[in-house]
Amino acid sequence: MQFNDSEHFNTIIIGGGASGLMAAATAGARGRRVLIIEKNPECGRKLSISGGGRCNITNAEFDQHLFADHYGDAKKFLLSAFSQFGVQETFEYFNSRGLAFVIEDRKRAFPITHSAPDVTRLLLEECRKYGVTIKTSCAVQSIESSNGHIDSIVTTQGSFTADTYILATGGASHPETGSTGDGFRWLKRLGHTVVTPTPSLVPLAVRERWVTNLQGITVKDVKISFTVDGRKTFNTKGSILFTHFGISGPTVLHCAKGVADLLPEGEVTAHLDLFPTLDEGTLNRHLVERFDAHKNTMVKNVFAGMLLTGIVDRSLTVAGIDPNTQVNSVTKEQRSRLTKALKDLSFPIDGLLGMDKAIIADGGVPLSEVSMQTMRSKVVDNLHITGDLFHIVRPSGGYSLQLCWTTGFIAGNSV
Ligand SMILES: Cc1cc2nc3c(=O)[nH]c(=O)nc-3n(C[C@H](O)[C@H](O)[C@H](O)COP(=O)(O)OP(=O)(O)OC[C@H]3O[C@@H](n4cnc5c(N)ncnc54)[C@H](O)[C@@H]3O)c2cc1C
Repeated sequence: MQFNDSEHFNTIIIGGGASGLMAAATAGARGRRVLIIEKNPECGRKLSISGGGRCNITNAEFDQHLFADHYGDAKKFLLSAFSQFGVQETFEYFNSRGLAFVIEDRKRAFPITHSAPDVTRLLLEECRKYGVTIKTSCAVQSIESSNGHIDSIVTTQGSFTADTYILATGGASHPETGSTGDGFRWLKRLGHTVVTPTPSLVPLAVRERWVTNLQGITVKDVKISFTVDGRKTFNTKGSILFTHFGISGPTVLHCAKGVADLLPEGEVTAHLDLFPTLDEGTLNRHLVERFDAHKNTMVKNVFAGMLLTGIVDRSLTVAGIDPNTQVNSVTKEQRSRLTKALKDLSFPIDGLLGMDKAIIADGGVPLSEVSMQTMRSKVVDNLHITGDLFHIVRPSGGYSLQLCWTTGFIAGNSV
């Protein structure tokens, strides 16, 4: 097949998401002739909705070892990558281009404008500055290769060639943003190992009506424990967001992987302890005092300003107390059952929500199959890989996007 000179690029980047844009801007700044091919009508759809539209752009942990601790087994590979472009460099990159950050709890860094689209715009502006060509509404259909070398790519707008290619098509979560797992299929065909993606940071599905009725409510400072067939497993503390499909929020998202491992073993039940800092005896004494102070109130009103109505109603139901009972009519046994309910409000977990609701999915190419100095594939000599295409388990808190900035920068700096 013949190609016009004008269609030959130094580097073609497949996918104009977070890592692809960073790679393009970096390669462009080095004077490379760069083409981004993006199948959506615009670049950066997932980036622009990240962090609830505010973009948790990185995590302000400047100690590289402490930062890399959040990536589990991948730490040993990532340390050298972070030493090339880590958290410090991410701050400098965006701050020096006019986007300051604010730091929130858990060291989460956000653009001061609280706008994820501002991050996309900044990267697109960098690309424009350095003459990066961007073809949108153009889907790559196949990658033509021979002897461990990419010869060309075939798209819905014709074929293109380049000296090097950066695959930045993202993972498989939230496919409506464009990351539909195309990259995984090509990588497998090219000879890479691809660990099957499973939703990782994902809400938990609960059918129980009282739980879904609480939709929109966040309960703070609770302990959530999980049992499988009644056997205790793991627990954590934090906030729980109730939704129309179950439970969510950062605390729950972080439990998803553990729950996914338990589900094949039997029936998984979540247990909420609404007063994790008080043991049962102390809580019971607090209830006695509170009941004494509200003797002539209906029991459902005793917790006003302390617990949400839906939670109180459920706790009273579990304790077998009519919410309209006068406090002075509540028996000692009922109060003791209420104490137990407040320490252990349980509901079965039906499963994990799917890829469409996952913040990230595990799975992808093991880091051992690329050079961490260049992000170049060890299988295909003119291919670099970035972002969510890697199999890296990580928590929420800016750790995914930092991987995009790091891998995107390194790839763009080495093509
Ligand atoms: C709702 C949500 C919120 C998130 N919030 C945060 C957060 O606050 N902080 C954080 O660190 N992480 C967050 N993440 C994760 C983070 O957004 C991703 O890790 C990151 O966007 C991945 O970037 P990427 O470059 O690997 O791929 P993507 O951003 O997924 O980009 C891949 C691009 O490739 C294009 N593409 C795919 N196939 C083709 C093809 N065949 N031809 C052409 N183009 C193609 C896609 O259209 C897409 O634009 C969030 C994720 C979600 C879903």
